[in-house]
Amino acid sequence: MKITVASGKGGTGKTTVAVGMALALQADGNRVTFLDCDVEEPNGHIFIKPDIQKNEDVFIDVPEINLEKCDFCGKCSEICAFNALLVAGESVVVFHELCHGCGGCNYFCPKGAVTLIPKKIGTIEMGTAAEGLNFAHGQLEIGVPLSPPLVDAVKKKQNGGITIIDAPPGTSCPAVHTVRETDFCLLVTEPTPFGLNDLALAVEMTRALDVPCGILVNRAREGWDIIDKYCKQNNLKILMKIPLSREIAGAYSKGIPLTFLDKEWGVAFRRLFRDIREMVESERNNRHQW
Ligand code: SF4
Ligand code: SF4
Repeated sequence: MKITVASGKGGTGKTTVAVGMALALQADGNRVTFLDCDVEEPNGHIFIKPDIQKNEDVFIDVPEINLEKCDFCGKCSEICAFNALLVAGESVVVFHELCHGCGGCNYFCPKGAVTLIPKKIGTIEMGTAAEGLNFAHGQLEIGVPLSPPLVDAVKKKQNGGITIIDAPPGTSCPAVHTVRETDFCLLVTEPTPFGLNDLALAVEMTRALDVPCGILVNRAREGWDIIDKYCKQNNLKILMKIPLSREIAGAYSKGIPLTFLDKEWGVAFRRLFRDIREMVESERNNRHQW
């Protein structure tokens, strides 16, 4: 079971929820892996405090042009969807920071002038935490703007059992790569117009990716029902609410997981997981019938 915890924007409390659910399920005797795919700004480790036992560098293959073989036909530049190659007169410029490492230029070059060389884009750190929780996070190399290949590499570190994935905020490529091909996406939002605007975009993303989703309202306040109304209109289920609370904000600022604050949060996160599992199973049954 792979559950992504995502949000349309940063600062909604997505990591608090992902960490809370992972720790609560591990404490209940499950085999759990926590993957932090927010590779530009990973912060799950601040709460989980894993013992890092292994590092792995992640590379993509970028082109190097042999000008002695090249006849400057421009084919490589034409086929590169990311504008990472420019052929001008008798020179070929490679913009490594734009290259996605697809290998197309190497494949299509008629002169065999393109060699692919590895370029480091980041590192994955792996380890274990409280009660045997498996942990991995990616850290993007400074100055590298290309996070999707690193996100994909972190996702490969799942280890069977239950995988909780902390997604990058937003709905652009890194978030899409994180959410796709998972069993469920829990969307964390807050009851404000900004929260609603970004939630609506995130819901569209999960629908486009065909991943079932449910909603968690963080910093919920009495009478602030903008998300409730939206969910009702759009046939979405609110699975949990976390109240706006000075105590919770204080714990967050000190890197204390909710489950350490009060054991009732462990109960709540396990209930949340049960509800998600029921939704996933019912979705699978519906698809099977079709
Ligand atoms: S496709 Fe090959 S031969 Fe043509 S410009 Fe690119 S590197 Fe040179
Ligand atoms: S490897 Fe792909 S993305 Fe990179 S320069 Fe070649 S065609 Fe463009």
